[in-house]
Amino acid sequence: MHKIVHVRPVDDAVGHEESVDCLCGPTGQGVHVAAADRSVGMIYHHHALRPCHEWEASAEA
Ligand SMILES: [Zn+2]
Repeated sequence: MHKIVHVRPVDDAVGHEESVDCLCGPTGQGVHVAAADRSVGMIYHHHALRPCHEWEASAEA
């Protein structure tokens, strides 16, 4: 099973799409389980346009 998770700022100046195509150009990072030697998903870390204190992580459907 492959999961895609987006970590997005909640209180940013702009709304962030739960998508790789978000305007902030999120950075994707593969999640690898060493014990099972397989990739289980990706985490996309979005870039806040201003300092944000609230972030949320959500899985792409
Ligand atoms: Zn974004």
